[in-house]
Amino acid sequence: MYDLIVIGAGPGGYVCAIRAAQLGLKVACVEGRETLGGTCLNVGCIPSKALLHASHMLHETHENFDRMGLTGAKVKVDWRKMQGYKADTVQGNTKGIEFLFKKNKIDWLKGWARIEAPGKVRVGDDLHETKRIVIATGSIPAALKGVEVDNAGGVIVDSTGALALPKIPKSMVVIGAGVIGLELGSVYARLGAEVTVIEYLDAITPGMDGEVQKQFQKILTKQGLTFVLGAAVTSAEVQKGKARLTYTLRKDDSEHQIEADCVLVATGRRPQVEGLGLDDLGVTMTDRGFVQIDDHWATSVAGIHAIGDCVPGPMLAHKAEDEGMAVAEVIAGKHGHVNYGVIPGVIYTTPEVANVGLTEEAAKDSGRKIKLGKFPFMGNARAKAAMQAEGFVKLIADAETDRILGCHIIGPNAGEMIHEVCVAMEFGAAAEDLALTCHAHPTTSEAVREAALACGDGAIHV
Ligand code: FAD
Repeated sequence: MYDLIVIGAGPGGYVCAIRAAQLGLKVACVEGRETLGGTCLNVGCIPSKALLHASHMLHETHENFDRMGLTGAKVKVDWRKMQGYKADTVQGNTKGIEFLFKKNKIDWLKGWARIEAPGKVRVGDDLHETKRIVIATGSIPAALKGVEVDNAGGVIVDSTGALALPKIPKSMVVIGAGVIGLELGSVYARLGAEVTVIEYLDAITPGMDGEVQKQFQKILTKQGLTFVLGAAVTSAEVQKGKARLTYTLRKDDSEHQIEADCVLVATGRRPQVEGLGLDDLGVTMTDRGFVQIDDHWATSVAGIHAIGDCVPGPMLAHKAEDEGMAVAEVIAGKHGHVNYGVIPGVIYTTPEVANVGLTEEAAKDSGRKIKLGKFPFMGNARAKAAMQAEGFVKLIADAETDRILGCHIIGPNAGEMIHEVCVAMEFGAAAEDLALTCHAHPTTSEAVREAALACGDGAIHV
């Protein structure tokens, strides 16, 4: 009899299993995939970052090396080798989770799980008994009507297929201008593909701060990506290894066609809950098919909890991890907590885009009086030395209390820099607290301090 069986070994599930074991529980984790780490380590965050890193390096050699006085033969791409580097990166990380499971004496139950009843989990022929169950089964790419994905064919693919294309396409259409579409679109644009992004809404990266959306689109356009906004893709056909897409412009209903060697469908993800037996158990689901949970990640059925991408909220690895730790603590009789107001979001393009807290639009809509402190990277010496001075930091604070409400960064190291604002927000800091904190020179983080100064008497370097 286990104290806890976690279903799914993605960042939500494996972190939950490790924390529960650390707290003294007898834990097993079921995973149907052949390796641990879930979407994130196998076909998500990690392989995409490996390709982003490699293609960024290539871009630097082509675009900036000569300007820095670094000359030599033009660097070429060996796609097979780059795929090998990506696979090694993935393997290093998935093996790392295996090591952590052994270290923490967590049983890895290999196979697909079905919950027969509260406290009973079937994996293949074996029925395992447990006091509690955590569902951490994550998500899979959502389908788009009229566009059939065939990853093996390599012409119309989802993100999993796009991470392992047989060759670099000459042209690519990305359907969906969200994080995944833009990251992978950037990879192939840097590798030489002509990339067109088709988005249903009138702006890229839906839900992000409007000013960042505009600047980001401008920068990506300069990098060679083409955007078709306000367009609904209605059908796709594959002929002689090429795809032909039909889309309708929402403003005038006009119909258009576009051809490409490869189409990436990146229109979102949906919870992966099939086969778990949730219907039979009577677990309440949301209208959109997520597992409904309460403030302590408990489902409607006693003894069964759920976390990560299969429950509502941002589909992010670190959100899943935080929930994994918190639910383990609740199950162990402690007080698990996740502050949903301070969950950073990062897009790992060049420049990076990072945000935390409220957008300017949401802060205004909340009826508060706000103040904005903005600082461009053009005024930051380190960013200029690295030839990455595009973008800005925007800090949003309450006009009356000076409390930080949100931060939006588009620029070098944005994904690292956002964390000082996260810590500040966790402590309920005022913009003045950041402004009064000495920042090392020359660092890109100085731009965050300057934005905080701009919320008060003014930034120095503008
Ligand atoms: P998952 O990681 O999806 O893991 C769930 C696991 O459960 C899977 O391994 C699955 O096989 C297993 N499973 C499902 N059902 C069963 C069952 N019945 N029995 C046994 N096992 C089962 N997020 C970020 O924060 N940063 C990023 O940079 C980032 N980049 C991404 C890039 C791409 C291309 C993609 C696709 C996603 C990216 N994400 C990123 C999102 C991130 O991968 C997810 O938010 C995260 O993996 C969710 O974790 P999870 O533990 O909830 O689920």
